[in-house]
Amino acid sequence: MTQFSEYQGNTGTPAEETGYYIDCRDLFKIYKRADLEVVALRGLDLSVEAGELIAVIGASGSGKSTLLNILAGLDRPSAGQVLVGARDLLDVSDSDLVMYRRSEVGFVWQATARNLVPYLSVADNIALPMALSGEPAKVRRAWSDELLESLGMADKKDRLPYQLSGGEQQRAAIAVGLANKPPLLLADEPTGELDTENADSIFEMIRGLNQSYGVTVVTVTHYAGVSQFVDRVVHIRDGRIGSETFSRPDYRRDGGIVEEEFVVVDPAGRLQLPPELAERFRRGGLAKIQTEDGQITIDAPGTNPRQTRSRSQQ
Ligand code: ADP
Ligand code: MG
Repeated sequence: MTQFSEYQGNTGTPAEETGYYIDCRDLFKIYKRADLEVVALRGLDLSVEAGELIAVIGASGSGKSTLLNILAGLDRPSAGQVLVGARDLLDVSDSDLVMYRRSEVGFVWQATARNLVPYLSVADNIALPMALSGEPAKVRRAWSDELLESLGMADKKDRLPYQLSGGEQQRAAIAVGLANKPPLLLADEPTGELDTENADSIFEMIRGLNQSYGVTVVTVTHYAGVSQFVDRVVHIRDGRIGSETFSRPDYRRDGGIVEEEFVVVDPAGRLQLPPELAERFRRGGLAKIQTEDGQITIDAPGTNPRQTRSRSQQ
């Protein structure tokens, strides 16, 4: 496989100011249709380190695709900050955005048919983005072969998309996404049309590529089994990050991975309660907050105190 350094030749450097590869602060996206306004993202904060693999989960309509489309440079944010590497996606020019989409992000859609050109073979699908970037044929072939090899698809390179299973089409789509060796791979429900077995194998491959090439990955998913393949699961609720679950392989007990869920406290000190606790405040009301040794205990009327901890206190 290509060495990490060679792949990373295409920049993947975190922003100097923040140290994060992706840094969203107080991000808003408002869609305007006639006189109707939909606030799809409302003050979202999210930081991702270079080389991290995270999954974004949340109910339908919570803003997951909006976030991914903004990170992909397909849509522009309305307000706030979104830095990816050295770029500020709020301020970027149209031509710079085109360059960004071509060389710095790979994107995999849920609909398998949307990811591949139907009349091109798998190998030609992978070669296409490289040809657009001016890579010579020899380079295109070598990298395409290597990607297909690492995705277990070497024997399928001459097939047309319709001659592949859904799982194979998504693997080919991942290879297309990585054709220009982008530092960032985004996937919006890449296994949404697949069964559990195929979903497992796709996420296993994404994990493998993340580890061998160092590519940063943000994937939106509904797949319940995703946490074993990622570093972190972030839960999006009503256009904001509500909580994060960290997988801690170092705390393995009985072969399982211990997961801990944290409520996220934003830089202004606001936190979003988990839905079951928020329900207790549906008609408003007072919460009792106690702090002791870095632990915050929130007492809602009629509940047992639920313990939360702010991330800064880990
Ligand atoms: P998710 O991917 O979590 O299901 P989306 O990001 O697609 O959610 O949508 C978030 C909200 O923004 C929804 O209320 C949706 O209807 C709205 N929305 C998304 N895209 C558009 C658009 N192009 N125009 C108007 N409203 C939109
Ligand atoms: Mg969506």
